[in-house]
Formats: sequence, structure tokens, C-alpha cells
Amino acid sequence: MTVIGLDDTDSRERGMCTTYLATRLATAIDRAGGRIERRLLIRLNPAVEHKTRGNAALALHTDLEPDRALELAAAELEPLAEMGDPRTSPGVVVTGDDAEAVPDSVAAFAQRAVRDLLDLDDALGLLEDLGYRHRGWAGGRGRIGALAAVGAWAAFGEWTYEHIAYRAFERCGTPRDVDETSVFEAASAYYPEAWDTVDQVESQAVCVPNAPGPILYGIRGDDSAPVRALANEIESEPVERSATFLTNQGTDGHLRDGSIGDLRDGRAYRVDGTVTGEPETRQGGHVFVPIADPPSGATAECVAFEPTKRFRDRVRALSAGDEITACGEVSGGTIKLEKFAVRSLRRTAETTPTCEVCDRSMESAGRDQGYRCRDCGTSAPGPATVELDRDLEPGWYEVPPCARRHIAKPLVRGGFDAPTHPAR
Ligand code: ATP
Repeated sequence: MTVIGLDDTDSRERGMCTTYLATRLATAIDRAGGRIERRLLIRLNPAVEHKTRGNAALALHTDLEPDRALELAAAELEPLAEMGDPRTSPGVVVTGDDAEAVPDSVAAFAQRAVRDLLDLDDALGLLEDLGYRHRGWAGGRGRIGALAAVGAWAAFGEWTYEHIAYRAFERCGTPRDVDETSVFEAASAYYPEAWDTVDQVESQAVCVPNAPGPILYGIRGDDSAPVRALANEIESEPVERSATFLTNQGTDGHLRDGSIGDLRDGRAYRVDGTVTGEPETRQGGHVFVPIADPPSGATAECVAFEPTKRFRDRVRALSAGDEITACGEVSGGTIKLEKFAVRSLRRTAETTPTCEVCDRSMESAGRDQGYRCRDCGTSAPGPATVELDRDLEPGWYEVPPCARRHIAKPLVRGGFDAPTHPAR
């Protein structure tokens, strides 16, 4: 088998898309007499600063001979890659190793590329040690992602699908003509096998990108049949070509279990904590909530950003004393919430007691001396307890589809350790 890894060919302003390059390369391989066994779309660490958008890297598994594969990859890449963008830094990696039998160091590299920040030297050192073929352009930083994509099949155990339809290349940059009614109907028909096709509350067809590239729409789901069938029901401008990718999207592969005291920027975590103050909405509509790890005393702040829309109401419903598990990337010491689980809710609060005799609010009688009624002198040993009316239930809450990160796992996919409250 030959495995080809590709990355970093696109530009935020000018469009293009490495998935499109992979799809064109697959056609070129087919024309050259090779067979495509698998196409992988791998989402790497979303915290990487120089990503264009979703930090995607691609791999093709084929039987074409490795030198020929590298030649074809370079020939397809050079005219397509947005080399005029100083941030574009393409890379190709090719090996004759079987995808499932790459050395452990390559699989470990893929794991680290999803959860950590790496240097190009990390990739180049490994490539030289292994004797893998590789080429870089404009610095060739894309070889980080390309090598990770080569290791992905051995590294990851959970796979989902995305079926991508591409528009005619010359239409790129013009508004996409996709019939939203057909998208919403098809999305309902195939939910939950296909997920994150639309955001029902925001009335947004999230499967249709806003960026200028060649993707017309991308349908994501647990299996290949429903994502293809759903795509078939969408009415739109002509689809020039399409491809189905195996992907680590929707798997939470970026999250590591951690504790509040050990958080490091550029990584994404799943951490337990107790809410220590009331949520606060700050400028821009972002909602912040402080949490702590009582045994160690370590503290952190969580934030639900404005684009997470109605998810912020779930965060605002938290209250001091609630126990939660928070998930998200850490940046500047703050956890950017993607989802959280309510483990326990504080159901009662202490309040100033009311005088039983004259029904008026009592006053403190001094430190550790309880309360006294100013009118009749009745005393109470301590505060009263009131039941709190909570607008949350135990279990998992998530950002809506319109704010989902590619790699984040939608609750509807299941496998969570508590009840779920999926957003759709
Ligand atoms: P797209 O919109 O197609 O998803 P992108 O978001 O994938 O674009 P790229 O242009 O591919 O963005 O930029 C990501 C760059 O970061 C690539 O050069 C890739 O090699 C590199 N990279 C990927 N993962 C890591 C990592 N964990 N640490 C450091 N660099 C990484």
C-alpha cells in the first residue's frame, strides 16, 4: 500500500481547500491506473494558530507505487495551492508502509498532532529517521499535518464520515446556489445518523460553508450510506465532483482528561470542577463562569463565547456550588467551553430568616450570634434554607451545531457518561 499525506494548501482569503486537492489527486491516481482504497480527512489540534480554518489534513490510501504517487501529488498541488498567501506552506508525505502498520512513532505523532502543538522540526526529524518521501513548498510546514494524516489510520479508533460535494471551480467566490428547504428536509429525514447538517434554532444550513473555497456542502454522519443519501436529496447548482471521507470529526479526539491545576494553553481538556461564583455576561455577550478544584484549591475560568448562542443560557443557569465537568480548549488559562456536564446541582441556598411572629426579615445579631427580629426581639440560631428553582438538569449540554468545532463530538452520537441534552 502507499499512503499519501497532504496539508496546508489553502488560504483564508483566496479559498481552495486541501480536501479538493485530495479529490483531484484521487482522480489523477485513478487515471494513472491506481486504485483508491480510502480517503481520510483528519482534524488536527484546533488550537494551532497558523491554521486557515479547521486545521484539516488529508490522506489517500492507494496501490499506486510511492514515487509515482509523490510525483502526481506534486503535479496536482503546484497549480492549485495558494502559494501567493504567505501563510500557505504546503507539504506532502508519502510512504510505502501499510496504513495500519506504520511505525508506532508515526501513530504517536498523529495523536500528538491532535492534542499538542508541534514544530516542523519534529516532523522533519521523524521523516528522515523513517526514510519517508516528502516535499515541502514555501517552508513546507504542511508536512506536520501530512505526516499526522499518514499516521491517523493506525492512531485513531473512532471514525465518522463526511460526504463533500464540490462546485465547478470557476464558480468559486460567487454565492452558492443551494436550496435551503431541501437541505432542512433532508437533514430531518436522516437525523441522527447524519448530524450537524443544519442548526434548526438558528435556521442555518451549517453544511454549506461561508468561505470562498470549492466546497458546495459537506454532510457529516456516523456512516457512509446516510451521508450520501442525504446529499442526494439536496437541490443545488451543479455538483462538479464529490467524495466521501473517513474522518475523526465528531469524536472529541482532541480532549484529554486533566485537572484544573494542570491546564496548559494550546491543549483541550475534560476537567471536573465546582462552580465558585455566579456566571457573568461581559462585553460582546461572552459568558464567564469561575470553577475550582476544591481538593487542590486550583481555579480556572470557563467562557461560552457569543457565537455559541443559546448554549450561553445553559452556562448562565449555573450557580455557585454546582459540580460540573467542563470541556474545551485552554487559551490564556481560560477554558473555551464546547460542552459541559452537570454532575450535581446546588438545590438549596441560605438566606436571612423571616420572623415567625411578625413576618419581617430578621437582622444579624452579630458575628456567630444568629439573627434577631428588630421589632419583637424573636431570635433565630442561624440562616434559613430555601429551595432553589433550577433551570438545569444533571447531564451533558453542548454548543449548537452552528458553533460546533469539527472535531467536537455531538451529544446525539451517544457514548457519554450521563444523560445528554443534544442541541440540533
Ligand atoms: P482548512 O480550512 O482547509 O481546514 P486548515 O485550517 O487545515 O485549512 P492549514 O492551512 O492546513 O489550515 O494550516 C495548518 C498548519 O498547521 C499546517 O501547516 C499543519 O501542518 C500545521 N499543524 C497541524 N497540526 C499541528 C500541530 N499539532 N502543531 C503544529 N502545527 C500543526
